[in-house]
Amino acid sequence: MDAPGIVGRFAPTPSGLLHRGSVLAAIGSYLLARASKGRWLLRMEDLDTPRLQAGADSAILRDLERLGLEWDGPVLYQSTRIPAYAEALAQLQRQGLAYPCACTRQEIRLAGGIYPGTCRNGLPADRQGRAWRLRVPEQPRVFHDLLLGPQRQFPALEGDFILQRADGIFAYVLASVVDDAWQGVTQVARGEDLLAVTGRQCLLQDYLGHGRPVYAHLPLILDGQGRKLSKSDGASPWAEAPARAWMSALTDLGVPLPADLSGADMPTLRAFALDHFARRLPAMPNQSFNRTLRYD
Ligand code: GLU
Repeated sequence: MDAPGIVGRFAPTPSGLLHRGSVLAAIGSYLLARASKGRWLLRMEDLDTPRLQAGADSAILRDLERLGLEWDGPVLYQSTRIPAYAEALAQLQRQGLAYPCACTRQEIRLAGGIYPGTCRNGLPADRQGRAWRLRVPEQPRVFHDLLLGPQRQFPALEGDFILQRADGIFAYVLASVVDDAWQGVTQVARGEDLLAVTGRQCLLQDYLGHGRPVYAHLPLILDGQGRKLSKSDGASPWAEAPARAWMSALTDLGVPLPADLSGADMPTLRAFALDHFARRLPAMPNQSFNRTLRYD
């Protein structure tokens, strides 16, 4: 495939089956990458072992195949990348940006839910480090969202965040930043629930010396009670015919479906969607890769 340097990805956590929201993230990220003749990679975010569900990864791969979403190259399993995350943590430790923390979840809850920086300037005398946290600066991070426009976030409002948990598991924010850079990802399209962590990811990109991908946060699909669908909360798995899933995804992405496509099959809908996105994104902003909008 002719790939002018654009690399997108879909990065599911195999904690359950795909549901309408994750199908939208899969289709949306595929369309943005492929409409610009880019590559589309698949990464299994299988680090949080207590949340994983046996067989979910192969079920996800089967669903993606049924949806006609073919990916490039081998699937990357984050569980094979632990040394790379350890190296990134070591780099942050060497830079004095990561520090050990002794606090338990309960202590943080009692302190109001946001980590108050208890161990920031050294562990209390009688305590041992359990987790590693990032020293977060006051300055905001600014990034461009392809769909939502310029964004400005203050990671400091959430406190110093975890890089490696007390159980040794590397945090999603660290692992995803390390892998997006290593895989050469230039665009990250995913659900809007992850918009809030993007400022932290930008901070890590800056500290680790990585370029910044373009972000595109897709609409969230909520359940009847207004909650985000979530694999680990047992949201009903995607069980429609592939053509129906494409129609729903196009509706969710705000793409009007021509009347003559109402009974179309999956390949026809996929071709229509690719053509539609290719027209709307004549020059996917490859030039915004590495764009660093920062106030500090
Ligand atoms: N693994 C994350 C999830 O399933 C998505 C990560 C990402 O796209 O950055 O919610």
